[in-house]
Amino acid sequence: MAEMRTIEDLDANNKRVLVRVDYNVPIKDGEVTDDTRIRASLPTLEYLLDQGASIVLMSHRGRPSGEGIEEEFSLRPAALRLAELLQKPVMFATDTIGEDAQAKVAALRPGDIVLLENLRFDKREKKNDAEFAAELAKFGDVYVNDAFGTAHRAHASTAGVADLLPAYAGKLMEREVSTLSGMLENPRRPFAAILGGSKVSDKIKVIDALMDTCDTLIIGGGMCFTFLLAQGKSVGTSLKEEDWVERAAEMLKKAEDKGVQLLLPVDVVVADAFSNDANTQTVSVDEIPDDMMGLDIGPKTAELYADALACAQTIFWNGPMGVFEMPAFEAGTKAVACAVADNTEADSIIGGGDSVAAVNQFDLADQMTFISTGGGASMELVQGEKLPGVEVLMA
Ligand code: AMP
Repeated sequence: MAEMRTIEDLDANNKRVLVRVDYNVPIKDGEVTDDTRIRASLPTLEYLLDQGASIVLMSHRGRPSGEGIEEEFSLRPAALRLAELLQKPVMFATDTIGEDAQAKVAALRPGDIVLLENLRFDKREKKNDAEFAAELAKFGDVYVNDAFGTAHRAHASTAGVADLLPAYAGKLMEREVSTLSGMLENPRRPFAAILGGSKVSDKIKVIDALMDTCDTLIIGGGMCFTFLLAQGKSVGTSLKEEDWVERAAEMLKKAEDKGVQLLLPVDVVVADAFSNDANTQTVSVDEIPDDMMGLDIGPKTAELYADALACAQTIFWNGPMGVFEMPAFEAGTKAVACAVADNTEADSIIGGGDSVAAVNQFDLADQMTFISTGGGASMELVQGEKLPGVEVLMA
């Protein structure tokens, strides 16, 4: 992949820097309940402040209607949390491009920082509207994008403004893109990819792309049942996508042709209902009862997967092995998370979404090499798509 222009290429002294961050954080009773994304932006902000810049921050949060301010989607609590983390005042503009934003931006001095109200209070943001982008661009001398999580969307704040101002990648953006593309282009081998989650249809492009580069592909979660169907097995009432059995069969063939070791469950935990209190049993994949559904990989499978992961030098993981939100079906996901954590030699890359939630649930986050902040964006990058928010930062 070509190089990106990064903030290290920028002389930010005395500049007003318009920074797109991803502060799409959960908020309850006016407080940020998970500040991971705010913390992830600190290296870029601290670097720019040290350089003598002033900063105008912009982000979306949630899915407001786009017809004006809706308090429940306000970014004000994020400004308060950022001020605590930076240990300095952070101004908050009560509108996005209106009078308050304009006044606060105009008053900025080097070292000052202001967060604009939610970009998506204006429906023109998602439409990548040229006028809205021009209004935003007036707020900066230069533009920095540190919001990897929205880089797969061409919105005014991720694509439009980059055409109007000199555009650079922030440190988080740079690390996300270089880690994921480095993994695809030049992984330390053996390279093992673990894919789980609910549906084959959602992940088929990722499976296909990873098959071109990885040595071992480990499959779990609801989607393994469509693969088991492709192998001619019965899967009872498990989640299955009949329309995707043929594609799954093609993937099995591709693995064989390419010499990729493709691992599927040998045993599963089946239940008589989709419930934590269901009656369960562990069965071989050749003996799934007609009236039961598989909700986790079984212990033999967990051991098989852990053995494969123990010798990997690069590990990429996206998607849980079972319904890990229910304690009765978390063991497989936990075993895989522990196996990734136990392999301290490997570069372990967690590709966003539910696998990040799983790693946090088992308190193993600090034992991973890299945890992507972007679920959809990291999947699109891995499946070889060009991300509009990244393309505009290419040197
Ligand atoms: P995804 O968003 O595609 O990564 O899927 C994550 C979801 O898949 C989680 O909410 C899991 O509960 C669910 N999941 C994992 N394994 C299974 C399974 N065997 N049956 C049904 N859902 C599953």
